Amino acid sequence: MSGAVEAAGAAYGGGGFIGSARRGCCHKLRPVAVQAVIFDWGGTLTPWHTVDHEAMWSALCTSHFGELASASLAAAIVAAEAELWQAANQQHRGATLADLFARAGVTPAEAFVADYFAAWEPHTFTDPGAAGLLRELRARQIRVGVLSNTLWPRDRHEQIFVRDGILDLIDGAVYSSELGVTKPHQEAFRAAMAAVGVTNPAACVFVGDRLYDDIYGAQGVGMRTVHIPNGVVPHFSGATPDAVIHTLAELTEVIDTW
Ligand SMILES: [Mg+2]
Repeated sequence: MSGAVEAAGAAYGGGGFIGSARRGCCHKLRPVAVQAVIFDWGGTLTPWHTVDHEAMWSALCTSHFGELASASLAAAIVAAEAELWQAANQQHRGATLADLFARAGVTPAEAFVADYFAAWEPHTFTDPGAAGLLRELRARQIRVGVLSNTLWPRDRHEQIFVRDGILDLIDGAVYSSELGVTKPHQEAFRAAMAAVGVTNPAACVFVGDRLYDDIYGAQGVGMRTVHIPNGVVPHFSGATPDAVIHTLAELTEVIDTW
């Protein structure tokens, strides 16, 4: 997600593993050729950063609303953020920054929002290996997608991709802030497939750092999955990825075997 989701680290609910019947068979049968690779954003296309949300909101509120009001405003925003991420984790309900501020009872000035994104900026830089990887995928005629659980609007994500020189390498992107549902809801994965113009989930590979949101979710619609573990996101025992890599550079080697 946006880093905001990634850093939230809320516990996940349970749930059966839908894709288990498919796992294990794809190596025995001739696999469908890969037509698209869809990436999670935070912790996947951009390296994992642990962010202290309370400290960030406190500094922002102090700067904009003064010392006296800061503590209660920051606490309201932190609580609202936790509630929205809980809704994402448990009900797979998407939300926006506007939802966050409304829930917290805060009316943010443009400058407040600008400073919020400025505070996040150091945590948004794309993995240096991403651009080369996306070019390699495209050279293989594989379409490239992004599916992110995020409160942020599309234009913020696209500014980041422009800054880091990868926007033109992405065929389609879906953000939960626009969709109204979050991973692992199947609708999110189907929207991502539609965004890259692929109709067969077996021809899609999903790459992500979260076993529940990313791997379990993608397997639920029938995609192949690649996990990039980071040791920080909550464990989920109900899904086993088709492959595990530790750097993006390892991905093409996996895909070339499929
Ligand atoms: Mg992630």
